[in-house]
Order: sequence, then C-alpha cells, then structure tokens
Amino acid sequence: MNHPVEKPIGVAVLGMGNVGAEVVRILTEDADDLQARVGAPVVLRGVAVRDTSKPRDVDASLLTDDPQSLIDRDDVDVVVELIGGIEPPRTLILSALESGKSVVTANKALMAAHAGELSDAAARNRVDLYFEAAVAGAIPVIRPLTQSLAGDSVNRVAGIVNGTTNFILSEMAETGADYSDVLAEAGRLGYAEADPTADVEGYDAAAKAAILASIAFHSRVTADDVYREGITKITPEDLDAARKFDCTVKLLAICERFDDGGVEKISARVYPALIPLEHPLASVNGAYNAVVVESENAGRLMFYGAGAGGAPTAAAVMGDLVMAARNRVFSGRGPLESTYADLPVAPIDDVPTRYYIAMQVQDRPGVLQQLAGEFARHGVSISAMRQEGAGDDAKLIVVTHRASDRAQSETVAALESLDSVVKVSSVLRLEGTDD
Ligand code: NAP
Repeated sequence: MNHPVEKPIGVAVLGMGNVGAEVVRILTEDADDLQARVGAPVVLRGVAVRDTSKPRDVDASLLTDDPQSLIDRDDVDVVVELIGGIEPPRTLILSALESGKSVVTANKALMAAHAGELSDAAARNRVDLYFEAAVAGAIPVIRPLTQSLAGDSVNRVAGIVNGTTNFILSEMAETGADYSDVLAEAGRLGYAEADPTADVEGYDAAAKAAILASIAFHSRVTADDVYREGITKITPEDLDAARKFDCTVKLLAICERFDDGGVEKISARVYPALIPLEHPLASVNGAYNAVVVESENAGRLMFYGAGAGGAPTAAAVMGDLVMAARNRVFSGRGPLESTYADLPVAPIDDVPTRYYIAMQVQDRPGVLQQLAGEFARHGVSISAMRQEGAGDDAKLIVVTHRASDRAQSETVAALESLDSVVKVSSVLRLEGTDD
C-alpha cells in the first residue's frame, strides 16, 4: 500500500567544503532512497558558502553567501552546519534552534565548547541537535553511547580519534623516521594541514574527548577540562623502547570514571601513551580511528573505521539528517542532552596512571638503590626495570605500577635532581593494562 506523500522536509546546508560538498552530492543522488527512508521528500533549499563565484557541483541558484537568510526561510526544517569553527556557526545554530529548526553539525570545536548552551536551546524549542560526525568521522560512536548504551553504565572510553597523529606515529613506528620528516610526508599526502597545531598538539583530540566524556558520563565536560599533551616530543627511540616492552605508542583520548577516595569522579585526558601490542587499539594504524568503550554490562565494545574525509564524514551527517527529518515527519524527537550525573572532572594530578621513564644514569655501585629509594619515598612502586648499555651510555628504563599522576610526576622531578641521573630522556604514560 502506498502511503500518502508527506510535506517535504526542507534542508539548508551551511558550508560546501570537504564535507558539505559530499552531503550535497548524497542529497541529490540519493533523493529517492532518502524519501523512502524518511517518509517524505528531503529537499535541498539552499547552500551557504563564503565565495559564491567558485565553481561547484550544485545548481548555482541554490548558492548564497548569507547563511542567515537560509535559516530564516519558512520552507527550511533542518539546518546542516558544515562551516567549522566557533563563529559564525554558534550564532547561526542558536538562531536556527530558536526558530524551531532541527540542527545537524560536524563541528567538534563548537560542541566541545558550547554543547550546554546549544543543547539547552534545542530542548527549549523541542527540536533535535545531532552531532555524530563531530567525533571520529564515519564511525558511529555518539549514537551507540547515547542510545544503544542508554541502559548501561559506561566506565571508560578510550580512542584513537585523530587520524593525522595516528598516521605520524604509525609511520614513525614502521620506518624509524623522525617526527619532523613524517609530519612533512603527512602534509604532502594530505593527512596534515598547513598548520598542524590542532592535530599534533592534541587540541582536536581533546575536543572529541570532551564530547565523549559528556555523553558517556551524563555530565558536562568542555575542552578546557581535558588534560592535553601532543606528540611533538615523541622520538624514534621512544617507539623503539616501547617495542622492547611489547608496546607501541598511540595518541589516546581517555575518558574514565573512577573512585577518588570514596568520591566518584571523571577524568578526560589526551596524551601519547604506551599501550601493549595485544591491546585492540595497538593495531589501529595509518589515518584510521577507533574507539573502545567499556561498560558495566556490555563489557568491551570496539568501533573502528575512517575518522575523517569528505564522504565518510558526510555518511555520519546523513545518518543524523535522516533521523532529524524522520522525527519531523512523525512528530518525534531524539534524546535530549543528559547531564543528570553531574560528576566532577578530576585534575590530572589526582588521576591514577602508570609511567614509563627512560633515563641515562651513571654506571656505578649504589645507583639502583638510590633510584629505587626515590620511587619508594613517593609511594610509587616499580613494575619492571631494564638496564641497557654500560659506562657513559648506561640507560635505565623503569615502568611503574599505578599511582596518582602527582606522585609519578614528583618522582620524575626528584630523579632529575639526583647526581647519579645524567638525564631523564623520556617520560610517557602506560595505558591499556589492568594493574
Ligand atoms: P572546509 O572544507 O573548510 O569547508 C568549509 C565551508 O564553509 C566552505 O564551503 C566555506 O566556503 C564555508 N564557509 C566558511 N565561512 C563561511 C561563512 N561565514 N558563511 C558561509 N559559509 C562559510 O571544512 P570541512 O573540512 O568540510 O569541515 C566542515 C566541518 O566538519 C568542520 O566543523 C569540521 O571540523 C568538521 N569535520 C570535518 C572532517 C573532515 O574530514 N574534513 C571530519 C570530521 C568533522 P567557501 O567554499 O566559499 O570557502
């Protein structure tokens, strides 16, 4: 039986760059399938860009350099924001939500800084705000956390959520090349932007960690709450040493719920860390992303795939768009932001971590006892120790058991001041182990 054709759902796309161009293509090419899935025609009403004179694969009459004029149209029901950055997207999205339009965005920077304000506006106006593409591109992770796991308790989310840095670290591990050489290669291959700061210093991953921690732990976490270190200091020697401990080095975004002296807290942090080669994230190489979720009843789940790129990211945007459009056809709504748990975010000092410390030490009797004494004095116990070389080249590598990050970093500072330690050459955290 044929259903009566519903009133069309009008869509405005703001931005027609890498992602926007693919969304416009899919909307045009797959119009019939989208209509069947939504239950009404999904009609592109217009596309906002900065420069309307650039040649583009879209009917020129749909282009405008005035995004607000598209939002204001009565025949626009869903606004898809693919401009990027905080402004003008924040103002445009708020305006769309306040005028009763649902919004789909891929904007991690905006969601990591202003999710509260935007979600409140969506709730007030009883419309949808979806942002699956803001974390890990094509990989479904927001919807599994907010819907599939809505009846479970998430303990931990750990992921490789930045393809540029994962490409660089994978290449360094495979070829033994220097960070700067691999960064230059990543630029040539289109994996790194002209200004790679947001990627290599961990800002991009920190924005995603804030979004993941907020939804996983039903609390509001912003990018400013996320402890962050980048990969610029990682050397081929670090990767080589990691391998000797059956580990590799990955830039991880880690969101964790933990008990801090009887108080439940959360931690959100981004740093390069050693992980055991048998950990599922260790075999995620190149520009791929992966997210591992550990929850009370479901156990460990892993999501893997393309974390960026026009078409993969557009696939996630289209999933959100179909949901938002369907909700309008059937007068439904997606889940609201959930912040009831309101857990405090612990500073990195209070978070239990494990350290890997490589140092050059004097090769003379009594040095090991002196070093061991510093670890003991700070309440940090040693899990493994390995000595390499002799004489002036004597190198000592220590891996610790879990202790507060403050105790670990104070131990490193104390080691640096010992006359038997020539130099602490590398300090990294160790993740993905149970002890
Ligand atoms: P992009 O290639 O730089 O495209 C941005 C688009 O926005 C361009 O079409 C630009 O117009 C338009 N624009 C800029 N300022 C505007 C303004 N004031 N008014 C109207 N239009 C304006 O960006 P993208 O890579 O597609 O990324 C879009 C969003 O997706 C960002 O939030 C990004 O973080 C997110 N995202 C991207 C990826 C990815 O792989 N690229 C992955 C995940 C998430 P012109 O074309 O005229 O310059």
